[in-house]
Amino acid sequence: MLNQFLVVVDGQRLSKMLIREFISQSNKNQIISNLLKQYKVESVKVKQKSMKDHAHFNVDTGTLELSTKYKIIKKSQVKDFLITILHEINHAIDSKKYGWKKFKEMYEMEMNLMVAKDKDPYKDNKYEIQAEDFGQKNWKKWYEIFKKQDLF
Ligand SMILES: [Zn+2]
Repeated sequence: MLNQFLVVVDGQRLSKMLIREFISQSNKNQIISNLLKQYKVESVKVKQKSMKDHAHFNVDTGTLELSTKYKIIKKSQVKDFLITILHEINHAIDSKKYGWKKFKEMYEMEMNLMVAKDKDPYKDNKYEIQAEDFGQKNWKKWYEIFKKQDLF
């Protein structure tokens, strides 16, 4: 979506800029399918769901859930969107690697271990730390790639 903005530069000069403020749903879907293909997890089960987060990997069912809540994404949400998708893709990579049932067992074992150690079953979970790290490390690279492809 193209929107015209008036931007104040130096508090004096006014410059007119053409800013693409939103990412359309079709571009968003293309970004997701490109990422699934690039990380070779396009075979993972995908389900559309109305939820607050952009995406969630359901370890219990081995399903990547995508939010239907955001038809379009604001520019300011792009970073968060990419980190979330990459984070969930990292779980999908593990799920494919071990088989989702095995991964479910591994994940639950890790949760139990953290509880036994009086730590947080989610925040201190090594699979969560690994997935978040993956998202934080890779989002910029994809941001540049998708920008060049004119997807936002
Ligand atoms: Zn996670």
